[in-house]
Amino acid sequence: MGYADFTREQLLDHINEVELKLAQTHAKMDALLLLNRQLLREKEQEAALDFAWSGNLGHWYWDIRSNHVTFNPLKVITLGYDVSDIPEEVPFQFFTNLLHPDDYQTTMNAMKAHLNGEAPVYEVEYRIKAKDGSYHWYYDRGKITDIDANGNPVFLAGIVFDVTDKKRKVQELEAQNQLLAEEAMLDGLTKIRNRRALVEVLQHAIDDLKTKNGSTLSIALFDIDDFKRINDTKGHIFGDKVLTELAEISMRSIREPDVFGRYGGEEFLLVLPNTDKESAFLIADRIRKLVSEQCFYGDIHVTVSAGISEYLGGSISDFIKNADENLYIAKRTGKNKVV
Ligand code: GH3
Ligand code: MG
Ligand code: MG
Repeated sequence: MGYADFTREQLLDHINEVELKLAQTHAKMDALLLLNRQLLREKEQEAALDFAWSGNLGHWYWDIRSNHVTFNPLKVITLGYDVSDIPEEVPFQFFTNLLHPDDYQTTMNAMKAHLNGEAPVYEVEYRIKAKDGSYHWYYDRGKITDIDANGNPVFLAGIVFDVTDKKRKVQELEAQNQLLAEEAMLDGLTKIRNRRALVEVLQHAIDDLKTKNGSTLSIALFDIDDFKRINDTKGHIFGDKVLTELAEISMRSIREPDVFGRYGGEEFLLVLPNTDKESAFLIADRIRKLVSEQCFYGDIHVTVSAGISEYLGGSISDFIKNADENLYIAKRTGKNKVV
């Protein structure tokens, strides 16, 4: 029997009946929404008690089939948005569209991995854009709470934290650590690389050399001539000033990728990548000449001797020892020279 078989009165009755049912359904939906809001509020209060941790923005719920997200307004209010800025129906994309471009893929991957069953939870840290254009760091964690008859996820519940302050502190500490690590590589007096840094540079240079066919690596080990006498006649403070000035002169005369550092007391090491011993001799001799021509504090002349070594395999200490032996020859045969 089709609608055409009904009388007008019967049809009107039927329409009335349908309208009544619709009104009842709407009322039921309104009641459910109200209940939903009330439950969320209670959940948030409970969360405030259970997780009174700083940055807690509360829970969120994602109904996957309707793509409707229910959440504590704090989640967007802390981003500078007004509740009136939030659309009536908030889809998953409302949040993902605000993600930092560099965090978008990792967040999506984390969600996919959980939905696929590869990850036991959805857990991710991302930057999310505030209304003023700045980014906040959110820590987000959620889990599937309901699946359909086929085992597909239909509902997710999670909790989100604003971890911007924590992140900033971590970044500050990292920057401080970086600074300390750099300082640990510098000599306190001359502010040029210290022995530890030089050994590291040498190790890198040797590793690098092994990857390049036909390349060379040389070093020059410098030692101030008769420095003890300078200290004895002019005092230790003056000696320190000479060391600092000598470091400055030498640093000014070298180029990338060469590295000059203080190897020990009054000894300096010059690392020369892509340089054979003949070229190393010329570079070291140029520095020797510069130093000998310098009038330190308008008062005194200082000379240096240097020993060259070209890397032909073996350990770092043998490499330096070889330069030291040549330095010893330079000292024995008159000083102010490069061997
Ligand atoms: P040579 O020409 O054979 O190298 O003679 P030298 O006097 O330089 O050699 P020696 O090794 O006997 O003395 C090195 C001196 O360097 C002794 C030490 O007091 C001084 N010295 C080492 N480190 C420092 C420093 O940081 N500051 C000052 N002022 N002197 C230093
Ligand atoms: Mg010495
Ligand atoms: Mg000396």
